[in-house]
Amino acid sequence: MIADDTQTCQPLAGGQSLMPMLNLRVAQPEVLVDLNRIAALSFIEIQNDVVHIGAMVRYTALMHSPLIDKHVPLLAMALPYIAHQAVRNRGTIGGSVALADPAAEMPAVLKALAATIVVVSAHGQREIPAEAFFLGIYETALDEGELVHSIKIPLATSGHRFGFYELARRHGDYAMAGVAVSAQSINPCTELSIVFFGVADQPLRAVDAQAVLEGCAISDNAALTAAQQSLPAELMLGDTGVSADTRLQLARVALKRALLSMAD
Ligand SMILES: Cc1cc2nc3c(=O)[nH]c(=O)nc-3n(C[C@H](O)[C@H](O)[C@H](O)COP(=O)(O)OP(=O)(O)OC[C@H]3O[C@@H](n4cnc5c(N)ncnc54)[C@H](O)[C@@H]3O)c2cc1C
Repeated sequence: MIADDTQTCQPLAGGQSLMPMLNLRVAQPEVLVDLNRIAALSFIEIQNDVVHIGAMVRYTALMHSPLIDKHVPLLAMALPYIAHQAVRNRGTIGGSVALADPAAEMPAVLKALAATIVVVSAHGQREIPAEAFFLGIYETALDEGELVHSIKIPLATSGHRFGFYELARRHGDYAMAGVAVSAQSINPCTELSIVFFGVADQPLRAVDAQAVLEGCAISDNAALTAAQQSLPAELMLGDTGVSADTRLQLARVALKRALLSMAD
């Protein structure tokens, strides 16, 4: 069947979010386009100074990839926290990027690593920095008719250090608060990139905490406390399970633990 211009169309990747949405009639596309048999979207390769990952690469494949282990350690650190094995066997990195759930690990990690999202449509291809891609709850910079094709992530250099920490009720649940951190060096801290997930309406860069810690040793207690205090309380979201105040406190704890883990 070929969709015409008047029909609503939606791509199906791992189906771990879309299938429940279809079941609940939250999503009701007239045409579903299954990406699962497009082998050209399932690759992990090094290209110059980036790791290039196809949109249909599943979490489990990423977890078993020596390239990811060696060149994108922050991604490798985050993967075991995504749901459970059965979900990771089907869920894809492109699906997570396109869905833009602010509680998801991948968008925050990609933003912390200054990744680039490659998108395609009938009109061609364009590249969008992760920093500008995630716009709100389930909202991205994707235009009508655009697909996530792949993700480019700069290779980690030898001095690079990374930290990741999330607080969830049970392992595999979405985080109540979590943070992904990258630094060029840690004693003193340089080029810190700190991005939270599960706290705001999108992956949240902690701009003030980055500035506070720049030039300080990562285990400097006064700097850690100042960084914790600098988190933007006004951007924290509350829900029926976790109030905004509690979320701020959890974010502070996650930040300190992620940073201290980098000193080990
Ligand atoms: C029990 C359970 C627990 C979970 N826990 C977590 C968790 O802790 N952390 C986490 O991050 N996620 C979690 N998830 C979500 C899971 O990671 C999803 O698989 C993922 O968010 C979406 O990936 P997918 O490949 O399944 O995409 P799908 O469900 O197939 O698609 C999701 C959305 O993206 C669109 N889409 C998919 N691929 C593309 C593309 N290439 N281009 C454009 N649009 C596209 C679809 O049309 C749809 O709107 C959980 C899911 C379940 C069922």
